Amino acid sequence: MTTQLRTGQEIQLAARPDGVPTAANFALVERTLPELRDGQILVRNTWMSVDPYMRGRMDDKPSYLPPFQLGAALDGSAVGEVVESRSATIAVGATVTHFQGWRDFAVVDAETATVVDTGLADARHYLGALGTTGLTAYAALTSIAEVRPGDVVFISAAAGAVGSVAGQIARQLGASRVIGSAGGPAKNRLLLEEFGYDAAIDYRAGDLRGQLAAAAPDGVDVYLDSVGAEHLAAAIEAMRPGGRIALVGAISGYNATGDARPEATPDLYLAATKEITLRGMLVTSHFASFGEYIGQAAGWLADGSLRTRETVYEGLDQAPAAFLGVLSGANTGKMLVRLA
Ligand code: NAP
Repeated sequence: MTTQLRTGQEIQLAARPDGVPTAANFALVERTLPELRDGQILVRNTWMSVDPYMRGRMDDKPSYLPPFQLGAALDGSAVGEVVESRSATIAVGATVTHFQGWRDFAVVDAETATVVDTGLADARHYLGALGTTGLTAYAALTSIAEVRPGDVVFISAAAGAVGSVAGQIARQLGASRVIGSAGGPAKNRLLLEEFGYDAAIDYRAGDLRGQLAAAAPDGVDVYLDSVGAEHLAAAIEAMRPGGRIALVGAISGYNATGDARPEATPDLYLAATKEITLRGMLVTSHFASFGEYIGQAAGWLADGSLRTRETVYEGLDQAPAAFLGVLSGANTGKMLVRLA
């Protein structure tokens, strides 16, 4: 049996950015889909994720994931419906997550796809609170910088995808006070009114150190760092002795080029004298905890104790704009692109 010849659309890397990316770095291209081979499925993508880490893959530099290639489709997390199958394990009609976003139809090796339960939660949640986003927050606060009952927890990029979930998980883990930083008054209101933070810091208003000291007069036990530079420096100053820092991201430097790096340098000697633990993490090393996490988080979603937001851009042609938006703070909660 041969697969019907189909065409699809994909977003390719047209040029590597120098500093802040622009729409000119991307191209929307039509292409003919390859025929399915044994063990493959054809997925009609319904949602795709845009994530800050993709900025690093636009540069031609070695990292934990290979760089995107010029003139080739970008990739990343997506969810969709199986419309054709030559797999013995995944049938037509299943909803799957996989790693071929940035296109409308994807030919996927079934062994790399995961069937998700849309009875448990809407498909889009598997890219957000029930996906690597949520797992990142959970692993950072349970395995990397373990939150203990009574801890004061500080979270940066707190109104974003990871941060909005992390604040609520910190609370579930028994934190006594949860402090978030985000850009602008609207996001700060959201932290307090929707995501359960006890205190909100508007880092764009300046004096981050002063604001953090006021929000945490007795110091901070755990810091989830998504930003780096000035945020990390301020957190180290605010930490109590023996504090724990999860190094999750450093978005303030993702668009930096050459000498134009963020200015603040964290005082690592101060960290040493306070016996602070700084520990990096990659969510890919925590996939073994996915089942355990989804079990818990689906329950929190269902009973309303985990509140989520998404910022949604409509259509594949808007994926570059969504990606540029997630780098500049255009999102609250998870940034998603609806494809169908
Ligand atoms: P996100 O928080 O939804 O979006 C990024 C947010 O960063 C923006 O909304 C923006 O919010 C904030 N931001 C941008 N530039 C900033 C700056 N100069 N200073 C302070 N905040 C800035 O994205 P996400 O997917 O949840 O990712 C959050 C962080 O976790 C990123 O650093 C990402 O790379 C990292 N991450 C790491 C892993 C891992 O495995 N280690 C996995 C997932 C994510 P404002 O409007 O508040 O500025």
